[in-house]
Amino acid sequence: MTSERQAASGEMPDGQSLRPEQNGSGSPAPARANILLVDDRQDKILALEAVISSLGENIVKARSGKEALRHLLTTEFAVILLDVSMPVMDGFETAALIRKRPRSEHTPIIFVTSINNSENHISKGYSLGAVDYMLTPIVPEVLRTKVSVFVELHKKSELVRQQAEQLRQFEEAKHRRELSEAADRLDVETKRNRFFTLAIDLLAIASFDDYFIQLNPAWEATLGFSADELRSKSLLELVHPEDRTTTAEHLTRLKLGTAPRYFENRYLCRDGSFRWLGWTAAPFATEQLVYVFARDITSRKAAETEIQNLNGELERRISDLTDINSELEAFNYSISHDLRAPLRSIRSFAQFLREDSGPELKGEREDYLRRVESAAKYMDVLLLDLLQYSRLSRSDLEMVPVSLEAAIGDVLASIETEVQERKAEVTIRKPMPSVMAHPATLRQILYNLIANGLKFVEPNQTPRVELLSESNDGWIRLWIIDQGIGIAPQYQKKIFGLFQRLHSTETYPGTGIGLALVRRGIERMGGRVGLESGAGAGSKFWFELKNAAAV
Ligand code: ADP
Repeated sequence: MTSERQAASGEMPDGQSLRPEQNGSGSPAPARANILLVDDRQDKILALEAVISSLGENIVKARSGKEALRHLLTTEFAVILLDVSMPVMDGFETAALIRKRPRSEHTPIIFVTSINNSENHISKGYSLGAVDYMLTPIVPEVLRTKVSVFVELHKKSELVRQQAEQLRQFEEAKHRRELSEAADRLDVETKRNRFFTLAIDLLAIASFDDYFIQLNPAWEATLGFSADELRSKSLLELVHPEDRTTTAEHLTRLKLGTAPRYFENRYLCRDGSFRWLGWTAAPFATEQLVYVFARDITSRKAAETEIQNLNGELERRISDLTDINSELEAFNYSISHDLRAPLRSIRSFAQFLREDSGPELKGEREDYLRRVESAAKYMDVLLLDLLQYSRLSRSDLEMVPVSLEAAIGDVLASIETEVQERKAEVTIRKPMPSVMAHPATLRQILYNLIANGLKFVEPNQTPRVELLSESNDGWIRLWIIDQGIGIAPQYQKKIFGLFQRLHSTETYPGTGIGLALVRRGIERMGGRVGLESGAGAGSKFWFELKNAAAV
């Protein structure tokens, strides 16, 4: 590449470009400055270049004013060395055009002129914005000094410009950051405000002297008072008179940090009614503020009052029912008791009749008398059972440790004849523990369950009853297991009711009171009773009482 073309392309002879260099720190170091040499004569250009090349700057060469202007379009120069006497467009014309362009308006121009024309040229040059001039023949030292002054100046101003640019960028980044932080803060604040405004609960901030400072719109929606109205009154002023003392005490304790955070009171509404509010308040002593969160609990309170009323009503009814029950039981007892006296007369007179009549009593008459006797006997059994049932409900049961083994032994002894007659088998799995029970009631229960086990079998079946006990977590469960006719599931609950029987008295005699008595007796002793069975599958009755060893 020739030096001319190098100059035209803005490249250094060693191939380096005009682009600014970067230093190691990342901020651009002032690049080598560009110096433009303009002269139509190659030899003069070379002479100038030879002098200033030692400055180590980037030298660009132009052989005409036009070419110089072309360079100025793309490149910024620290200084222009401009030959005055050039053909077509001389140095002055070129300088005038350079000055017209804003980019090169202030670029220093040193005119190079011969000593002969110096006087004219110098004054004209100054008028066209030259900053200096050089007279040929050139004194190398002077040229280098002058050029280096402008180069230094250019580099300094470039540095200042870069620093100013860096500062501007830094300021701009800082400003942008501050702007974005402010926008974020605004966003958060807006969201918080929206939360505060839109919350359906009553949110507020109150001062330690019991005045609202800030309230959300839910207050007005709930109480009807505007935020201004609420702020103008002491917190206590609108509290229901009956709740005022407790509220004042609560507020005092709240500020001391000793109150529970939640409390309830009634608060006045604009229409004169009161609404129940449930308050959760958090005091901040350092700020002398209380953050309040309240909820309208009027409907909950109304529901609670309704439930209380219903409960009261229920209790009244239970007590009425208990009274009626005890009256009925007393009535039942006295009827059962009083009916036995006329029954005894019936039975006695039937007996007299039989004895007096002797052998004359036969046929239909004898049958009638037999029926009277049997009905009277059944009625006596029924009345006795009813009396027992009533007694069980009325009397206090004293609970003592009772040996199951002994109680079962007593019961079996009382039915020994029947067991033998019916060739029944009763097995007791020993040993058996003791339970907490009322001895007579326990014996009665055992009797009913064992007797039922022996009774409810198919006509030709041998009655078999097995008794075994289980211990579980402080309780003893006694099983009374038979292999009789069993009970279908749909009847298993029903048979514990009074007078509930699944068979006619002709098939299986009985009054239907036995299991009712079992259930009431067990329940009165604090236990439970149950049954596992199926039609034709035998029955497993069980009851549970407290283990005497665990009490
Ligand atoms: P009762 O024995 O006087 O009939 P209960 O109250 O003792 O009255 O029994 C009610 C009914 O339950 C009985 O009539 C019978 O139908 C049924 N039942 C009770 N125990 C058994 C049993 N072990 N096996 C089958 N059925 C039974």
